[in-house]
Amino acid sequence: MSKDKQFVTEITPQSEDFSRWYIDVIKKAELMDYSPVRGCIVFRPEGYELWENIQRDLDRRFKETGHRNAYFPMFIPESFFQKEKEHVEGFNPELPWVTEAAGEKLEERLAVRPTSETMFGHMYSKWIQSYRDLPVLINQWANVVRWEKRTMPFLRTSEFLWQEGHTAHENEEEAREETMRMLNVYREFVEEFLAIPVIVGEKTPSERFAGAVDTYSIEAMMKDGKAVQAGTSHYLGTKFAVAFDIKYLDRENTLQFCHTTSWGASTRLIGALIMVHGDDRGLALPPKVAPTQVIMIPIGPAKLRDQVVGRVDELYAELKKAGVRVRVDDRADVSPGWKFNEYEMRGVPLRLELGPRDMENGVVVLVSRITGEKRIVQQDNLVAEVEAMLAEIQSGMLEKAKQFRSDNSRSVDTIDEMKAFLEEQRGFVEAGWCGSAACEKQVKEETGATSRNIPFEPSAQKPKCLVCGDDSKHTVVFARAY
Ligand SMILES: [Zn+2]
Repeated sequence: MSKDKQFVTEITPQSEDFSRWYIDVIKKAELMDYSPVRGCIVFRPEGYELWENIQRDLDRRFKETGHRNAYFPMFIPESFFQKEKEHVEGFNPELPWVTEAAGEKLEERLAVRPTSETMFGHMYSKWIQSYRDLPVLINQWANVVRWEKRTMPFLRTSEFLWQEGHTAHENEEEAREETMRMLNVYREFVEEFLAIPVIVGEKTPSERFAGAVDTYSIEAMMKDGKAVQAGTSHYLGTKFAVAFDIKYLDRENTLQFCHTTSWGASTRLIGALIMVHGDDRGLALPPKVAPTQVIMIPIGPAKLRDQVVGRVDELYAELKKAGVRVRVDDRADVSPGWKFNEYEMRGVPLRLELGPRDMENGVVVLVSRITGEKRIVQQDNLVAEVEAMLAEIQSGMLEKAKQFRSDNSRSVDTIDEMKAFLEEQRGFVEAGWCGSAACEKQVKEETGATSRNIPFEPSAQKPKCLVCGDDSKHTVVFARAY
C-alpha cells in the first residue's frame, strides 16, 4: 500500500460515523489531545492558533463597539451563588468546589467560575454610584469550568476558553439595545470570519440562561444536521442588580437599579468550524481563520530543485510582506503527493505549486482546498491573484454552508411530519408552537430535538402548534444539538 493511500484510510468517512470522523480529524490535524483529567483537553498549537485568530477578530469588534477588557478572579465565594436563586439552580450541579488550601479547610467554599455574573455584579455594586458612571462595558477573556458528564472535544468540555461581556446600563431600553448589538456582532463575526451561516433568534423560556429575562442565540447547522449554539446574548433585567445591589443615582437624584446584560462565545466555535466545513479528506478552514492560508510546494526533479526552491523562497517573501499567512514545505524526502494530502487534511485553503516548467513560463499553479479548482497565474501578479482566490474561497464556503443548511431544513405542521423528516435525514425543523412548556417537552421526548430558538426571520409563520394543534404563538426551529 502506498503512503498516500494509507494516509487517507486513517480518517473514518463522515457517512460511516460522523463522531468518529470528527475525533479522527482533530487528532490527526493535531488540534488537540486528551488530558489526564477527564473531560479536559489540551489545545495544541494548531488548535490554539485557531482560537487566537478568533480572539483577535472578535476582540477588535468588541472594542469597536466601545468595550474594554478586564480580568476577574476565577474563584467565586459560595455565598455569591445564593444571591440569585435561578442562577444557583442552573449552575449548582456543574460547579467544582475548592474546600481547602494550604492544608486548611476554607471558611467559605469557593466555586471555580462557570460564568462570572456574580463576581461582576459584586464589583459593579462598588464601582457604580451615579448615572455618570454608566454604561459600564467590560469584556473578559478567560477559562471557565462546568463539570460535564458527557464531553466532546471543543464542543463540550469541563474546562473551556471563552469571552464573557458584562454590561450595566441606566434603563431597559439601553440594556436591550446592547443585548441586540452584541448578538449582531456575533452573527457578523461567525458569518464573515468563520463562513458559518446562523439562525438568529430568541430562546424559549426553558432554554434561557439561568437568571436571564431574555436569552438570544445564533444557531449553526453541522454537517450531520445537528445544531451548535454559536453565541448567546442575555438581557438580565434588574435581577442581578437587585441580587448584588448595583444601584445608581439617576438624573433626578433617585436611586435606581441598573439593567445589566451578559454575552459569550467560546471555543465551541472551533468545533463548529470543523463540523460545518470539514469533509472526508479532513479539515477545511476558511482563509480568514486559517493559521496557514497558503502552503507552497516546490515540485520537479532533484537536479532542478535548488533553482525551484530559490524561486519559491522569493515568492514566499512577497506573499509574507503582503500579510498573507504562508508556509513553504520544501522537504526533499517527502513526495509532493504526500504533501498535497497532508495539507488538504489540515485544511489549508490554498496550495501553490511551482515546478521547472512553471519557472520557464513565469507562472505558478494555485489549487483550492474546497473546490479543487486549479488556476495557473502569473508570478508577476501573484499577491493579487492569491488574495482574490482566498476571498473567493471564503465567500464560496459561506455559500456552500448556506446551501447545505437549506437542503437540510424543513418546515412542518405536525410532530409526525417532524419525526418522518428526522428519520429520513437529520436537520433543522421549523414549526409552530403554542408556547406551552409541555408541548416543547413532548417534542424533545419523542424526537430528541430541542427548540433552538424563535428565529427573527422564519421562512414562514406557522399558524398551529405542531403538538397540540392550538394557535401558535411562535415559529420555532427545532433540532438535535451538541
Ligand atoms: Zn402546543
